[in-house]
Amino acid sequence: MPGNHSVGHGELAVVGIGPGNLELMTPRARLAIERAEVIIGYNTYLDQIEELIEDQEVHRLPMRKEKERCRLAVELALAGKKVAVISGGDPGIYGMAGPILEMLGEREFTVVIIPGVTAAVSAAAALGAPLMNDFAVISLSDLLTPWPVIERRLQACSAGDLVTALYNPQSKKRGEQIVKAVQIFLKHRPETTPVGLVRNSERAAEEVILTSLKKMLEHPIDMFTTVIIGNSQTFIRGRHMITPRGYRSRSVKFNAPTFKLKKEVTS
Ligand code: SAH
Repeated sequence: MPGNHSVGHGELAVVGIGPGNLELMTPRARLAIERAEVIIGYNTYLDQIEELIEDQEVHRLPMRKEKERCRLAVELALAGKKVAVISGGDPGIYGMAGPILEMLGEREFTVVIIPGVTAAVSAAAALGAPLMNDFAVISLSDLLTPWPVIERRLQACSAGDLVTALYNPQSKKRGEQIVKAVQIFLKHRPETTPVGLVRNSERAAEEVILTSLKKMLEHPIDMFTTVIIGNSQTFIRGRHMITPRGYRSRSVKFNAPTFKLKKEVTS
């Protein structure tokens, strides 16, 4: 029977395609897409890899249909198809890797997870070198994580002087979280703390803004934006946001109002 020969030999790859530009997709991700018989993903991400799609069967699933996507992917792979599930950035960072493994449950089946360049990393490169020391990533979306949990993590990052990248910072329906996040960071960092906003990183409409904790909310921030809040040592020089590589020669006094920035933020 046609197609039956491959029963039991299906493959399931969860593929991180990077932030947008195909040049930032790894060769391994590209191979997985070329090798696949079936490609499953959100429209936006499938559009990003359009030129790699040839005769593969494509399932474009709308946003929020995550469970359906996972179920379809697992069923097709178990039925013997070579399936690639497409995830933006890295699939293990608010992506499809977790949901796919959860959906697979106890079944014995090898899933290949292919890492990708996550938004914080491409945004950081556009800004200069803001993640040079310890940093954290927090999603402000409370759809899957309760707000009190997110708030506690924001407080810990703020008090711990971590450079902090915010994903899912603000949507049409969710405007308050980013305001609260700024208030939390202002408890431990001065208003002049550098903040970088990168919208549509590595896509045609990329926008990069250097601002400060005080002024960041004056700029448009949406679900295509990654926000990077500097730590007590981060400074802006020219077009670059820089966190010093080491603290050895500096006295670090976070939690106290005695921060010294190399340069005042101008925007
Ligand atoms: N798995 C993805 C993140 C998914 S969460 C990754 O590793 O990058 C979605 C959030 O990621 C967005 O709301 C935005 O904050 C950030 N993001 C993803 N792609 C981006 C891009 N090209 N430019 C800026 N931010 C991006």
